[in-house]
Amino acid sequence: MNSYIEHSDFFKGNDIEKLAAEYGTPVYVYSEDIIRTRMEAVNNVITKYDYTANYSVKANTNLEILKLALSEDINCDAMSMGELMVLKKAGFPSDRLFFVPNNVPDEEYEYAIDNDIVVSMDSLSQLIRYGKLASKKGKGFECAVRINPGVGAGHSEKVVTGGKKTKFGIAEADIPKIQPILDEYGLKLIGINQHIGSQFLDPQPYLDAVENLLRIARGFKGLKFIDFGGGYGIPYHKLDDEGNYPMEDFKARLLPILDAFVADYGYAPLFKSEPGRFCVAEGGVILGRVNAIKENAGKTYIGTDIGMNTLIRPAMYDSYHDIEIIRDGKVVPRENMSEASVTGQICESGDLLARDRMLPEAKEGDLVCVLDAGAYGYSMASTYNTRPRPAEVMICRDGSVKLVRRRETYEDLMALF
Ligand code: PLP
Repeated sequence: MNSYIEHSDFFKGNDIEKLAAEYGTPVYVYSEDIIRTRMEAVNNVITKYDYTANYSVKANTNLEILKLALSEDINCDAMSMGELMVLKKAGFPSDRLFFVPNNVPDEEYEYAIDNDIVVSMDSLSQLIRYGKLASKKGKGFECAVRINPGVGAGHSEKVVTGGKKTKFGIAEADIPKIQPILDEYGLKLIGINQHIGSQFLDPQPYLDAVENLLRIARGFKGLKFIDFGGGYGIPYHKLDDEGNYPMEDFKARLLPILDAFVADYGYAPLFKSEPGRFCVAEGGVILGRVNAIKENAGKTYIGTDIGMNTLIRPAMYDSYHDIEIIRDGKVVPRENMSEASVTGQICESGDLLARDRMLPEAKEGDLVCVLDAGAYGYSMASTYNTRPRPAEVMICRDGSVKLVRRRETYEDLMALF
């Protein structure tokens, strides 16, 4: 594919230069169309049984994106009290939220209990602490536990969330210790969840983990829900024609596993999944400006204003993001390419968006467009080097452009002192 933004009509005819001028660079740009389409896809993973996809909002907590989830009938998962608060602000009723934190203080559990939000406990010690709080408050007795499935998968060791080498969940060997704790505090276990990791394009590890969780679920009576976790991948190498997550094939292979479980268990509890990235990654890009071109020891550096403060994934996980060059509002064709590294303006040598990448020639004043930045982009952005965080805008279905978070100002940064 020569250009994803042209292929997907990402900007819906809006003048890219005008957008960059109006909102400044760097700027996150989202596509309502693409995000809605992905949310629809995850909401249809299981149609035969009661099912809900819970959008894992840590991928992107922009209020307007949460409102899209609300209107697409997607429920949501939160990892922190802050995420729960934005979800409430977006209008989510408590029964559409699931709180899946780890190692949080009492305050966060109390917020969930006070707001009637079901919580999953990540360890036995947290289950005890939660039990004490529920007893004190006389509510919140229905709860869930996160099981560590013993296996993990993912694009980087840092995002593998299951298996013996991770901090997450209750190990299978400790499962017999759960019931005595539930009994002591009058808790009722209504659900179990797991997560094996992120960004896999081969569904097999996930399907194995589903089978494994269902095997474990057979040991719990009366569950209201079973949550299989998230992690469906997206093609980060789309300009090289990498394929999509094979959703239809995945669904066809998942169904017989569920059928066998339901036949055994006697009824179908609510099935859930927790996709984050899949819902929003491809619906977001970052526009940045080329401020300098440099030759250094035989290498070309394209110096932009998109640093690791704006998008940390390449520096943190060695993640790959496709990049398009835009000149005078038009995508520069992928022809006559040569090797260059694309950097930001942060004072670290790891501040590289792309290392030794084949790209069309870039010039000072061009725009760069970093693809697949809708997930773990703004939500992991920082003010490192005392740089305000960028604005976020949405290209709406009707082609109009909406500012969905204003650019942070230097006054915002100074106000905390
Ligand atoms: N749920 C949990 C518990 C997670 O830890 C994560 C990501 O690490 C997600 C959901 C979302 O994963 P992804 O964005 O890969 O779908």
